[in-house]
Amino acid sequence: MKKKILVTGGAGFIGSHLCKYLLEKGNDVICLDNYFTGSKDNIRDLLDNHNFELVRHDVINPYYAEVEEIFNLACPASPIHYQYKPIKTTKTSVLGVLNCLELATEIDAKLLHASTSEVYGDPLENPQKETYWGNVNPIGIRSCYDEGKRVSETFCADYNRQKGTRIKIIRIFNTYGPNMNVNDGRVVSNFILQALNNEDITIYGDGTQTRCFQYVDDLIKGMVGIMETDDSFLGPVNLGNPVEITILQLAEKIIDMTNSKSGLVFKPLPCDDPKRRKPDISLARKVIGYAPSVSVEEGLAATIAYFDKILKNDHGSAI
Ligand code: NAD
Ligand code: UDP
Repeated sequence: MKKKILVTGGAGFIGSHLCKYLLEKGNDVICLDNYFTGSKDNIRDLLDNHNFELVRHDVINPYYAEVEEIFNLACPASPIHYQYKPIKTTKTSVLGVLNCLELATEIDAKLLHASTSEVYGDPLENPQKETYWGNVNPIGIRSCYDEGKRVSETFCADYNRQKGTRIKIIRIFNTYGPNMNVNDGRVVSNFILQALNNEDITIYGDGTQTRCFQYVDDLIKGMVGIMETDDSFLGPVNLGNPVEITILQLAEKIIDMTNSKSGLVFKPLPCDDPKRRKPDISLARKVIGYAPSVSVEEGLAATIAYFDKILKNDHGSAI
């Protein structure tokens, strides 16, 4: 059945894939964004679709529309961007979700809030289950994002308890794919761009820290699946691909897949950088049969092809 859906942060990396997917299913989509890290280029192909509406708006201010579902994604996600104006980041997380919750309560819409594996901080348990409360520095350089997302989860839980608001919290683990900003600064896009340009790959620390990388198509299926669960399911629920690799292994894989001449250069590890991260996805598997199916090799190949095309368009020739 056709639904009216609001996607905040819809012009960003994940948001643009979500808008496309929801439109392909025949829904009406309002994409709301202030273009801080997102871009109209990501949703240019959708602009001719009569079911698509684009609104420039900052989520720290209230917004009203009659919709049945809200996906709240607005928030910079890359450390360099969320640390650029940290006070704004916390406001975006906290006031953004507050405004979404007020709207959802008033119009009885379902709200799915995009939280993050960062709520686990530098985890002392591996893999991380939803029941783990985390190890987060409240005053460090990552705190604007981590604590902002933690308070957002608190708001969601309390709106549900106090006002009966229909909420769902997902905790997204490192996700990558086409439409990541070329200036995003996160590891996958940095390494691919460096490899394609035959520049040194910047490893922070000794590269033994781990992450698990989920391709964006798998995440979108998970997000939509969770939104469709019964109102009694609130989460939080982890969405990620549990295949764990070191940052050094990721660099070697990307160099190999791009036939790059890049070397490795080691830079200082940023403060509070988590040493290990791996989702336990048994809850998502149980609730929606979640099973990421895109391998790192397949996902990286699609992402490399995307950035390769962007570089060729920018410079008019191959690297
Ligand atoms: P992104 O930076 O590409 O997208 C964020 C979007 O939100 C951008 O379009 C940006 O312009 C918009 N935005 C930022 N501040 C805003 C504001 N005040 N008002 C309106 N729009 C605003 O990042 P992404 O990777 O697509 O992340 C989307 C969401 O998923 C974020 O909430 C992020 O915290 C969450 N998440 C992502 C990952 C990941 O690995 N990609 C992991 C965990 C959580
Ligand atoms: N990283 C790196 N080189 C880069 C960018 C990131 O070694 O050019 C490391 C970073 O220190 C972290 C991991 O890669 O250990 C993932 O970083 P990213 O910023 O992608 O995400 P997050 O730290 O939020 O998981």
